[in-house]
Amino acid sequence: MTSPSVKSVKSVDISLAIVGGGIAGLAAAYEAFRIADLNTKGGSEAGGQIVLFEAAPRLGGKITTVRRDGFVIEGGPDTFLAVSKPWAVELCRELGMEDRLRGTNPRLRATYVLYRGRLEPLPDGLTMMIPTRFGPMARTRLLTWPQKARMALDFFIPPRRDDGDESLGAFVTRRLGRAAYENLIEPLMSGIYAGDGDRLSLLATFPYLRDLERKYGGLIKGALAMRRKMGKRAPGSRSAFLTPETGLAEMVEALEAHLRRAGVRLLTSTPVSAVEPLPAGGFRLRTAAGEFTAARLVLATPAYATADLVEAFAPDAAAALRGIPYTATATVSLAYREADLARPLDGYGYVIPRREGREALACTWTSTKFPHRAPKGYALLRVFVGRAGQENAIPWTRASLIEVARRELAQTLGVTAEPLFAEVFIWPRAMPQYNLGHLERVAQAEGALAAFPGLALAGNAYRGIGIPDCIRSGREAVRRIMNGEL
Ligand SMILES: Cc1cc2nc3c(=O)[nH]c(=O)nc-3n(C[C@H](O)[C@H](O)[C@H](O)COP(=O)(O)OP(=O)(O)OC[C@H]3O[C@@H](n4cnc5c(N)ncnc54)[C@H](O)[C@@H]3O)c2cc1C
Repeated sequence: MTSPSVKSVKSVDISLAIVGGGIAGLAAAYEAFRIADLNTKGGSEAGGQIVLFEAAPRLGGKITTVRRDGFVIEGGPDTFLAVSKPWAVELCRELGMEDRLRGTNPRLRATYVLYRGRLEPLPDGLTMMIPTRFGPMARTRLLTWPQKARMALDFFIPPRRDDGDESLGAFVTRRLGRAAYENLIEPLMSGIYAGDGDRLSLLATFPYLRDLERKYGGLIKGALAMRRKMGKRAPGSRSAFLTPETGLAEMVEALEAHLRRAGVRLLTSTPVSAVEPLPAGGFRLRTAAGEFTAARLVLATPAYATADLVEAFAPDAAAALRGIPYTATATVSLAYREADLARPLDGYGYVIPRREGREALACTWTSTKFPHRAPKGYALLRVFVGRAGQENAIPWTRASLIEVARRELAQTLGVTAEPLFAEVFIWPRAMPQYNLGHLERVAQAEGALAAFPGLALAGNAYRGIGIPDCIRSGREAVRRIMNGEL
């Protein structure tokens, strides 16, 4: 179906259109120019044939950094996995900014869990979030002795052998017991998605846990084996998480500078409102900057926005994409003088299990986790608010969110002082939920779009929510359409 106004205007011809200027879309543009430049052995005009359309006035999507009075404040992500998912580090290296990356503070690594209103340290020796050391588990007050004994049954429970999916909650409960899930694993794992672990799909979120179960006969046995393997690989040489010194926006800035030098057109404040596949191949795009005809197209937009763009020609794909729900979340960063805090911030912060019934999900002690992100003598705390299923209980305004965050800090940390300032970021549809059936929904969407050669999907809605996964998805999408696989 074609909108009449799409037909009537003259189009600009380009070879590749990318819709969405978050990290996935930027990585796609980067890869497209890299391949084109290689093919033409440098000095090419290839950059001008690539156009990225971004609806917002700035690039970066969920990555946004405020630098203020010596503080570095992240509105969305604050760090990325560096070792197990190397794609972000690789991109930083290619952009010549690897020396800008900093690890998390190695001296004060404790993370706490809110348990019955008190902060309890997360036991040491978690490998891939699974306990692997007896001493710390024996000492932790997060579980009673019968609950610890139930965890140990993991050594004897036979592994599930079929390929069927199950929820993250069901899986961890089956292996380690419900208390271990609720008090230990749920806040860590579900927190990444601001999700509900009883709905999240194990195979879409943490497929390696099923692999560990199958390969080693149990979760703890598998995690122990992984710990031995990791131990052999020069331990401690690098932090598992990295981030640029003055915030993740450095990555966006480096990509933008690189792409502009290459001649790639980065059109901000330019939403794409319609896409139409052309009978002879290629796509026509209607945008705020006029019409474009592109031989190839990467849609690096959130699933619900992608659904709107493909609805007219691929309704089955649109329906599957609309089946991926999103959770709202907000981050509230509050700055204080250290002297105004009631207790030392001796760790990276704390997570809040769902059963504690708080509006907040977690609190990062940013100035401890990344000491370079606050001036000496000052503290920066970041409270995450909102999780799947609780959105209606949250007042989504700046003033109310600051109140929620301050209430949380007063209750848990005894902080009652006025903050020096607050930075609030509200993300109404932030986190795609990889709920049960997610992999089938993705397969259905991709299957329906396979009828339109040259079109690829990228971004956090499909096979990984973290920055490294998004970068990989953007780069892979381009490689696959350039290779004629899509
Ligand atoms: C609060 C928070 C904390 C997080 N913490 C971490 C973390 O610490 N580490 C980590 O690895 N990940 C983290 N994540 C996840 C990670 O930040 C995101 O998954 C990732 O940045 C998403 O990138 P993306 O390019 O897929 O999507 P987005 O960043 O959402 O970009 C999509 C872009 O598409 C644009 N768009 C939409 N519709 C159109 C249209 N019609 N035309 C043109 N443009 C359009 C949007 O404006 C947007 O800029 C966090 C996320 C949030 C919200």
